[in-house]
Amino acid sequence: MTPHVVPDPQAGAAVKAADRAHVFHSWSAQGLIDPLAVAGAEGSYFWDYDGNRYLDFTSGLVYTNIGYQHPKVVAAIQEQAAKLATFAPAFAVDVRSEAARLIAERTPGDLDKIFFTNGGAEAVENAVRMARLHTGRHKVLSAFRSYHGATSTAINLTGDPRRWASDTGSAGVVRFWAPFLYRSPFYAETEQQECERALAHLEDTIAFEGPGTIAAIILETVPGTAGIMTPPPGYLTGVREICDKYGIVFVLDEVMAGFGRTGKWFAAEHFDVVPDLLTFAKGVNSGYVPLGGVAISEKIAATFETRPYPGGLTYSGHPLACAAAVATIQVMEDEKVVENAARIGETVLGPGLRELAERHPSVGEVRGMGVFWALDLVRNKETREPLVPYNAAGEANAPMAAFGAAAKKNGLWPFVNMNRTHAVPACNVTADEVKEGLAALDAALTVADEHT
Ligand code: PMP
Repeated sequence: MTPHVVPDPQAGAAVKAADRAHVFHSWSAQGLIDPLAVAGAEGSYFWDYDGNRYLDFTSGLVYTNIGYQHPKVVAAIQEQAAKLATFAPAFAVDVRSEAARLIAERTPGDLDKIFFTNGGAEAVENAVRMARLHTGRHKVLSAFRSYHGATSTAINLTGDPRRWASDTGSAGVVRFWAPFLYRSPFYAETEQQECERALAHLEDTIAFEGPGTIAAIILETVPGTAGIMTPPPGYLTGVREICDKYGIVFVLDEVMAGFGRTGKWFAAEHFDVVPDLLTFAKGVNSGYVPLGGVAISEKIAATFETRPYPGGLTYSGHPLACAAAVATIQVMEDEKVVENAARIGETVLGPGLRELAERHPSVGEVRGMGVFWALDLVRNKETREPLVPYNAAGEANAPMAAFGAAAKKNGLWPFVNMNRTHAVPACNVTADEVKEGLAALDAALTVADEHT
């Protein structure tokens, strides 16, 4: 128990009542939710007002890459608040340039200019705008089984059921199938087949849409919310070649996969690919203050050397957010957080999840890298029928709800999405914490097994 969290159920009830009175929650039927009142958090854990401790295997919304309340980042925010709490984006501010330099140094290739936003969706909106202005074209190709954010263009680009209710169908978006061998859209049996067929399908899509109308292709380097689907070797470099062939801007969305999650600073490094634009957010400062952005290649930046970029945000490069980013990146270097994520994935989390898959009939596939893993839960390992239907987004579903409740009862806060649970702890999680999480998952999967 952290020293500052003292169980106080009455206070918890008051916090919850105040929340239910006035807070309108994301992605929820307001009358049907019962949000947990959180009393405090530290490292990989958080506490409720009843004194229950939860190991956070969700990293918030996959963003607390260095865990909660890291003292160095908290201090940096406090110091910045005392020094210069805010200043408008048109001015040069020391901490803003420093954050941009540290990010640019870590992004691959020549992605050396940073446009700051307040989060991931705004980063995607601006990347698309940059691509459209750079090419003079309007269409954007995005993948089914993707998530790019909840603002208007970003939700149109999103290729999962969260789009359905608000998709205008009019943002110049064309969707295609990206590779996913376990549920192959191409009926492929090997990674190589999946890769070749996915690239051929993408090129066909471009041919029939009209290459001269397509501004950008956007992909999550490793699609996150839609299932942590590591692309087969050769796919992303193949997309890079296709983009070059047709003069299409290649955007990689690393809002979730970036900043250590996959065991590298950016997931693109695993695949030897450099996009023209890279979107980031979340882990850039562990989400302590909202921050996101677009890392821009020389080629795209040159378009806006003498021509104004027509876009901006009041809080772009907010000093508190940038101070948090500078401190977070420093902590990640000093404490070897990226290396830790890689090692934990290879030695504890990956092997541990695979071992669970062997014993539990409900686990169809384990996939991932670093601290970025998914368990695809199934009714039947042979047929791979998902434990709940794919369109169960946002709807209560009994098997996954029972799985989630069992995990929580065992002290683990799980990420649950449709028929999947993701194991996405902080990048500085310890081996002991992961083992504790695996034990809780083991118990929760026994409940999921009842539905197979
Ligand atoms: N892109 C990806 C890949 C994401 O995972 C997310 C958020 N889950 C977003 C964009 C949107 O980011 P935000 O919620 O900060 O707008």
